[in-house]
Amino acid sequence: MTTTAPFSDTHFGHIINGEEVASLDGAVMDDINPYTQQPWAQVALGSPADADRAVAAARLAFDHGPWPRMGFEARQKILHRLADLMDEHAHELAMADCRDMGKPITQALHDVARSAWNVRFFADHARLTAAETLPMDSGHHAYTRYESAGVVVAISPWNFPLMLGTWKVAPALAWGNTVVLKPAEDTPVSATIWARLALAAGMPPGVLNVVHGYGPDSVGSTLTADARVDRITFTGESTTGKAISAVAAANLIPVSLELGGKGANIVFDDADLDNAVHWAVQAIFRNAGQVCLAGSRLYVQRGIYDEFMRRYIVAAQALRIGDPTDATTEFGPLASQTHFRKVSGYFDTLATDGGQLLTGGVGEGWSVRPSIIVDAPTDARVCREEIFGPVVVVAPFDTEAEVIAAANDTRYGLNAMVFTRDLSRAHRVSARLHAGTIWVNCFFIRDLRAPFGGVGESGVGREGGMYSREFFTEPKAVIMQIDSDHT
Ligand code: NAD
Repeated sequence: MTTTAPFSDTHFGHIINGEEVASLDGAVMDDINPYTQQPWAQVALGSPADADRAVAAARLAFDHGPWPRMGFEARQKILHRLADLMDEHAHELAMADCRDMGKPITQALHDVARSAWNVRFFADHARLTAAETLPMDSGHHAYTRYESAGVVVAISPWNFPLMLGTWKVAPALAWGNTVVLKPAEDTPVSATIWARLALAAGMPPGVLNVVHGYGPDSVGSTLTADARVDRITFTGESTTGKAISAVAAANLIPVSLELGGKGANIVFDDADLDNAVHWAVQAIFRNAGQVCLAGSRLYVQRGIYDEFMRRYIVAAQALRIGDPTDATTEFGPLASQTHFRKVSGYFDTLATDGGQLLTGGVGEGWSVRPSIIVDAPTDARVCREEIFGPVVVVAPFDTEAEVIAAANDTRYGLNAMVFTRDLSRAHRVSARLHAGTIWVNCFFIRDLRAPFGGVGESGVGREGGMYSREFFTEPKAVIMQIDSDHT
């Protein structure tokens, strides 16, 4: 991969119409490393004018370029080349997310591997998926065609910068669409490196455009208000999702919204305790809790509560906190100063709302240590709001019915976890939990064919496998007469 001056591995532009370019007004932003609290790169800061030309490039590439017309096999080859290049550049991509948000490098490398898998999976899925043929009694038959939808705007958050960008963009590309990706302003770099790699893999100009900048009243809102756009796929906060939905409705643009969460993690007293403790730690402290799927409300049945908590606190305190670039680090700072202030502010609410901090609290720099809160009333802000940091509220429970009601008592509904050895209970409770994904005796395991999304304020629509096809295509019915003698 070669970059053209003035761009380099510390200077990043937008990628528009196959070229890396500066903002039209020349604006740049400092990209801050939250661990060092210093800028480590400069990135083009886009304006509505840059958003406009990115959509124009994607529109032109869709209406007149080769990508939607070249067929599944040709697209699959380019996408596979891209995935191979991602593997070759895994360290560079991982370091970008590590520096941009303080994600421990081992977790960032894991995200790159998953990102390459997103690209390969959706390339193969689109190529191999069959459409329906519907024999009719009337002497006709009907069949479906899944036509590319057109220009897709993808807006992604900062917590899994590359992984969530690829999760949204790979199926859009595989189904023949062209894309404008706007990564979060705090974590812009891996998207530009990825788009550079896409060009190196042979992706035609205008197919994958990346434009950097802020959301409200800027690049993000300009993209979502553009009538030349055919789909908007968004991951981020529920309040932002509502704003985007309202803007998109004015142009009747379909939206897919993957939003916030307040996941319930339920441990019954017959659970494998080591397994439950392991996943309860991962569920809230991996990525410093900056995970939409976090198990931020932990319910433990009373019979094992004391023993569970003894082990849980030990495991949380044992996490290795440190320099995110160090391969032994398990836990880094929060992604930005703004986010650090938001998360640490929740400790102040305990005095008024109630609740006791058993371990954790504010750490060095912009970090919050693995934090465990007990005795918080159910209406406390720490129980109701998405903190999006390494802060868990734990409560004991007695009965199955009681814990199902508690778990469902939220405006969110992204996911929940159930730990039990009782097979019937696992099925029964999974059926009654109001959420898009239920993990039983595990967490974070994904099958990219499965539907992914949330209920309530956790989202609208599903992506993954066939669900991504539904969103990124226009299904068309073709009905043909096959027997002209039929009356
Ligand atoms: P955010 O909503 O602040 O920003 C997300 C993206 O939207 C950014 O690129 C931002 O610039 C852009 N944006 C902001 N306002 C906009 C507007 N008015 N119009 C267009 N674009 C706009 O979210 P965040 O803080 O980056 O991410 C954290 C949130 O994302 C959490 O709530 C988390 O739960 C959620 N999330 C959800 C999932 C999921 O799959 N459901 C996955 C990861 C994160």
